[in-house]
Amino acid sequence: MLKHDVIIACSGLAALATAARLHELGKKNIAIYTTDFGGTPYIAAINFVLPDNPYGDTSQQYYEDMLQAGYRINNKKLVQDMTSNTFRGYELLRRWDIEFATEKDGSTKLRHVSGHTYPRSLCCTTDLIGAEIIRKMVGKLQKCGVLINRGCECVGLLSEDGKIHGITVKDDKGSCFNAYAPVVVAAWGGVGNLFGKSTYPQDIKGNTLAIAREAGAKLVDIEFLEYEPMVIMSPTGAVGEPCPTAMLGEGAHLLNTEGERFMLKVRPQGEAGSPKTLINKEIWKQVDAGKGTLHGGVYVDLRHIPSETLKAYPWFYDRLMENGVDPNRDLIEVGPMAHSFSGGVYVDAQYESTVEGFYAVGEACGGVHGACRCAGNAASQATLSGLLCAEGIMKKKNNTKTKEFPIEYSQDKTVSGTYIPQVRELAAKALGIYRNGNMLKSALEAMKALREKEDVKKDTETYQTVVSVMLMLQAALLREESRGTHMRTDHPNALDCFEKELIIE
Ligand SMILES: Cc1cc2nc3c(=O)[nH]c(=O)nc-3n(C[C@H](O)[C@H](O)[C@H](O)COP(=O)(O)OP(=O)(O)OC[C@H]3O[C@@H](n4cnc5c(N)ncnc54)[C@H](O)[C@@H]3O)c2cc1C
Repeated sequence: MLKHDVIIACSGLAALATAARLHELGKKNIAIYTTDFGGTPYIAAINFVLPDNPYGDTSQQYYEDMLQAGYRINNKKLVQDMTSNTFRGYELLRRWDIEFATEKDGSTKLRHVSGHTYPRSLCCTTDLIGAEIIRKMVGKLQKCGVLINRGCECVGLLSEDGKIHGITVKDDKGSCFNAYAPVVVAAWGGVGNLFGKSTYPQDIKGNTLAIAREAGAKLVDIEFLEYEPMVIMSPTGAVGEPCPTAMLGEGAHLLNTEGERFMLKVRPQGEAGSPKTLINKEIWKQVDAGKGTLHGGVYVDLRHIPSETLKAYPWFYDRLMENGVDPNRDLIEVGPMAHSFSGGVYVDAQYESTVEGFYAVGEACGGVHGACRCAGNAASQATLSGLLCAEGIMKKKNNTKTKEFPIEYSQDKTVSGTYIPQVRELAAKALGIYRNGNMLKSALEAMKALREKEDVKKDTETYQTVVSVMLMLQAALLREESRGTHMRTDHPNALDCFEKELIIE
């Protein structure tokens, strides 16, 4: 029997933060099973309120900003714990050698990203900060004895009578085995690839919602997808690269095809700090009004921003230049694209789910962001949830008895090749920005029919993909009002139907 004290499913920032804090607190025999690094290597911005913030920022203001962006349906306890511990998150990363960019006077460089009252976003100006995190933390954790098993996908959770016992793993040769532990932490990120075109990397499949649900975990807010407002739409070689919302803080303007700074109509103080939902909606309004670009977006104008400032976002600047676009000369076509997930496993203040010993952190858990998250907060939440979860695990006396389970997993590539693209197409249509009750109902019926098909049952991943989309459709149907990024076209005026988080029991 392959047994560990703690299993962490995955190796993005939330997983690394959990493992780092567990190690600091003396936990031994920690094993990570992971496919790749998820969204983490692409993280450009991460927010913390530092005590010497020159703008007079406070954790209370941070708390208010999160509730404001989340339409006040966030889990307030989780937000309170995250914002009041913000500096501890920064200190954790510093202890693990993460270096943040500084100004000439040695103070930490702070950027102003969307949804925040003040500049509080930290970065690296020579690379993406997520790449720095992976580079430093993975090696250091391995040296500390944390076992990192790459090429290992978690394909199921082993649970019984409301308790976790371990996970089923598929390795890169396609063989399956069970790994046992009284504590399992899900850090498997969001659901991006359920929706075809998105900014997500390929290792985030999205079937994990079904995996959690099958183990008996409750889910929350799973109707809420985040759309990144300014993703490059042209030229082809740069499509999918997000233009950081921090650019708005550097002075970027959004223009429609008539050259109007349309955001000023709804935000006279300017684009900087504007919540992502507002930018998304205003872009769509321009497109609807026939003032959108060829690929259904608008323009971001960076031409007046000094090239030195633009070069401090090297991944973005270089990608444009390599594709023949000079941001000091050309307007750039941008628009919203599915980007992250605000829902997930329902957790308590220790990040434990409703299944004993099963925890969820980072984008895998829900409730913190409510209907919409502030930019840069996925990374902060991944750090803080990892830290608080590790402390929660150490405080609790966990059940140490584990029992052996049979391996239940089947693969049929013909089935996945046939059905997964169909499911994704249906999901992208029904669960997009504009939602409609009838469309959601018919997509749900289609998913229910697929779930019953003998063929579909022959391939576990296909079955889990169908169930994950089904769960999201159910939640989206229950959320009758327009909320977050999503517009219910059948209830356009029902903005305040209900003000609470939606838990799928
Ligand atoms: C292009 C891009 C840019 C972004 N920029 C920012 C930004 O600047 N600031 C910000 O705050 N957020 C940003 N985000 C969002 C952010 O990257 C994620 O929300 C964040 O990485 C979440 O951290 P995580 O550890 O929870 O998940 P991830 O970083 O996504 O890691 C998930 C982990 O789970 C693994 N995995 C998935 N499924 C399985 C499975 N079944 N079995 C085993 N392993 C599995 C993956 O391989 C990976 O190791 C960006 C996202 C993208 C795609």
